[in-house]
Amino acid sequence: MKAFFRISVSIMAFSTLVVSCGETPENEVKTTDEEHVATSGGEVESLDFTAMDTTADPKVDFYQFACGAWLASNPIPEEESRWSNFNVLDDNNNDILKNLLEDAQANPGPTGGAKQLIGDLYKSFSDTVHRNEMGLAPIQPVLNQIDAMTSNADLVDVLASLHAIGVDAGFGLYVEQDAKLNDRYAAYLGQGGLGLPNRDYYFNKDDRSVMIRQEYDKHMKTMFDLVVSNPEKEAAYNIEIDLAKESWPPTELRDIEAQYNKMTISELGEMAPGFDWTAYFDKRGVSIDSIIVGQKNFMTQFGKLATSKSLADWKNYLKWTVINHTAGYLTTELERANFAFYSTVLRGTEKMKPLWKRGVMMVTMSPVGEALGEVFVQDNFTPEAKTKVDEMVDNITLVFDERIEQLDWMSEETKVKAKEKLSSFARKLGFPDVWKSYEGLSIVPDNYVQNQFSLARFNIEDNLGRLGKEINKDEWHMAPQIVNAYYNPLLNEIVFPAGIMQKPFFSENFEDAVNYARMGAVIGHELTHGFDDMGSQFDATGAMVNWWTAEDKEKFDAKTQLLIDQYSDYEVLEGVFINGQLTLGENIADLGGLTIAYHAYKKSLEGKEDVVVNGFTGDQRFFIAFGQVWQNNIRDNALVQRVNNDPHSPGKYRVNGVVSNMPEFFEAFDVQEGDPMRQPEDKIARIW
Ligand SMILES: [Zn+2]
Repeated sequence: MKAFFRISVSIMAFSTLVVSCGETPENEVKTTDEEHVATSGGEVESLDFTAMDTTADPKVDFYQFACGAWLASNPIPEEESRWSNFNVLDDNNNDILKNLLEDAQANPGPTGGAKQLIGDLYKSFSDTVHRNEMGLAPIQPVLNQIDAMTSNADLVDVLASLHAIGVDAGFGLYVEQDAKLNDRYAAYLGQGGLGLPNRDYYFNKDDRSVMIRQEYDKHMKTMFDLVVSNPEKEAAYNIEIDLAKESWPPTELRDIEAQYNKMTISELGEMAPGFDWTAYFDKRGVSIDSIIVGQKNFMTQFGKLATSKSLADWKNYLKWTVINHTAGYLTTELERANFAFYSTVLRGTEKMKPLWKRGVMMVTMSPVGEALGEVFVQDNFTPEAKTKVDEMVDNITLVFDERIEQLDWMSEETKVKAKEKLSSFARKLGFPDVWKSYEGLSIVPDNYVQNQFSLARFNIEDNLGRLGKEINKDEWHMAPQIVNAYYNPLLNEIVFPAGIMQKPFFSENFEDAVNYARMGAVIGHELTHGFDDMGSQFDATGAMVNWWTAEDKEKFDAKTQLLIDQYSDYEVLEGVFINGQLTLGENIADLGGLTIAYHAYKKSLEGKEDVVVNGFTGDQRFFIAFGQVWQNNIRDNALVQRVNNDPHSPGKYRVNGVVSNMPEFFEAFDVQEGDPMRQPEDKIARIW
């Protein structure tokens, strides 16, 4: 997340169901036994009734009712900043992945093959004795290049070198489909170069933000002291502040139209003089006559700083970006210091995860994560699961189509376009049809930093090398073992890795009420992303063109405003409120997803009465099963960090915020007008 692809990822990121923010789980937390429901078809499992707090009133706090007992009996392990279903499932996966990596390490097979790449990467990471012995030597050539700068003009060469190994300094260059002419790739420039999570951290005046800045200051000093002599951290921080001044906050980054600024390279030079862009692109091996600039004011600011800041200041800043980027790859001492700020201060996590678990997560999130997935799916994914989920996608798409037809707020003209888009969704289930080629990538067993640089180079060269080539529609942006899912607007595709097609999200043995409430809601969520505040700006082919009539767009905006208002009112900690604008896309997807999944569940009954299990009707079990998907405990610091950066609302509000807009839920639990779990009639947001 910290590296080069942050910008590219942030474009993609609005599609993900959850942010896999490197929070792997820890400890063996006991999941309570599932209740078994005997039916005529054999043993079918229902939801986890023991997770419920039946003393809570579902009309007042449905989340507490659905999972209160689980919350009380699952404290956050020391090594985690939060603890949820995702962590429990990740934990199971991690044990499997660990065995696969140990096997690959012992039996690497042919050089360049999947097992050699992942086995040796894991080995180089795990050998902390050797990492400590090497000390700072692996980054010395990079630091030397910075020291050798003789004028600000050398920024071109040095930034090109740093960007080529994934160091986030100054700004970012990447290649992605041209959002408006999406049958070809285009080069993009975006803001970057900050050490704190986003620009607001540099300016917010509340106590918590002030404390974080004080700690960041101490952290920079600690790190500089460990790496270079005569540190002047103030210079580095001052450049960050100046970059932050013209950086866009997360909410504004959702305005994709405003960030589509195509210009020639000479126009870029006029807008951001002070930096030789032509020479820079040349150094990166990129031959372009135009570029799409995300944040114009930011580039202008960068150009100004490139000449106005002294050479000594720039050297200082560049060294900081290198130290900060590589700290986790170097010695135990640096890794710990890095953890102390980024995990303990920012997220409240007390203790580092064990080495093996960090290694598993690192390989999974690395560019060879897919190679690990290739081994993972061999024994951990069945064609039956894929078939069943495929059927669910069919059913849910059908229901979505019927609902579009029946929308009372949308004109026929726009409906035709919406249905065309829905029928054009591509789907990817389980794992890629075509595995990624790692030809040319070299991974060695005994130099972890070198491996990280090789991986970054491989990934970045692959990315920049796309210019002028045909669009690769086969690739996946998520490794198959990851417990997550995503929507990619540029290909108009929904993607469900093997990792999420497991309990508690999905099981071939779950009753339909549970599968639809969980996996079904995930499927509905990803489909709805195609019709949220951002996805709705892309058409059936994945191009960013408006397919809405002005009047329908106005009605859509009025409806989504209700959600913005609703979520902005949620106070998650004293004085800390959800950002209704930042979370809008996810909240639309949550509400649309559950609504559509509910109706698909009803359809799956084919007119049969649903049975009562443990005193709960099928409809009630559907909603309770959904509530349990988001059961999670989270540290205060992590919660604040999440509210500031994450487009997803915290778990509790992903449940209560959604059901309180659903008449289907009011009926299931007899929720009356005036009850807390029921939005007032004129504030109910019914969109999809
Ligand atoms: Zn999402």
